[in-house]
Amino acid sequence: MTNRITVLGSINLDTTYHVNRMPQPGETIAASNKTSAAGGKGANQAVAAARSGASTAFIGMVGGDDAGQFMRTALAENNVDISNVFIQKDIGTGSAAIILNQQGQNSIMVYGGANHEITPATINQPAVIDTIRNSDFLIAQFETPQAATLAAFKIAREHGVKTILNPAPAKEVSAELLAYTDLLVPNETESEALTGITITDAKSLAQTGAHFAHLGVHNLLITLGSKGVYLYQEKQATVLPAYKVQAIDTTGAGDTFIGSMTAQLKPDFFNLEEAVNYGQTASSLAVQGLGAMPSIPTAAQIAVAQA
Ligand code: ADP
Repeated sequence: MTNRITVLGSINLDTTYHVNRMPQPGETIAASNKTSAAGGKGANQAVAAARSGASTAFIGMVGGDDAGQFMRTALAENNVDISNVFIQKDIGTGSAAIILNQQGQNSIMVYGGANHEITPATINQPAVIDTIRNSDFLIAQFETPQAATLAAFKIAREHGVKTILNPAPAKEVSAELLAYTDLLVPNETESEALTGITITDAKSLAQTGAHFAHLGVHNLLITLGSKGVYLYQEKQATVLPAYKVQAIDTTGAGDTFIGSMTAQLKPDFFNLEEAVNYGQTASSLAVQGLGAMPSIPTAAQIAVAQA
């Protein structure tokens, strides 16, 4: 059966500057190339879910500018339902400036724009409530306001829809939002920002898992870049190694992982390890291509890589 996934999240127009090395503070350096692409953590995750075959809907906001129209079209062309992507006329569409060096590392600046205008009132509209209710999974990140995420997660919980929180970029999270989170997916940096625990070994991994379990999060995946994923479920800590590939651009690796992994998840997360394997196959393909959204693989490409 096809999973029905709703993503509440950010929509950004990404501009990538290609450089030999990162600029230092106060320094001006030349970029060898500049490219623009659809992005935003929410939009990337939705496209990853849809390309992995999930029936995917989006809840979000763009500005009344050309970038907003471009982004709505980009989502629709990827089979993401945009009926709950609202247009806020007086504000700019979210945007991101990405500096990418030759080692495939990136530094990113994000302008929130219309993404920051999403409120609980946006969520509590009948059409949005219906969309959430008719999903298997609801995914959110931290590029849109937490008050709106909490409103959406409450609706999800009420209707048995599983909630997935990607706490990125790192910010403080309310204990209440974590209590409504069924699966938490931070990367190492975000995990450390939330717990104060630096993950260095099996012991600190287990401490991190116990920390989140105490706050009511019973399923935890920490993405570890080229090292893979740390899974903590039922007090069991497991490290699932990443695929060994030549990475050229890791932008959006985590987004691809979350969207594709969720497309394979079964209710109650009983196949979490298998879904993680699928997500890691997808993200290992994504890091071998340039850009975030352009390099997100399809179900057919993931199947070839898994064969
Ligand atoms: P984020 O983009 O949120 O920082 P990570 O860097 O942890 O997320 O990457 C998410 C997932 O993408 C990893 O768990 C791994 O499966 C895959 N990945 C990232 N970087 C690489 C890499 N260099 N080689 C292979 N897989 C990678």
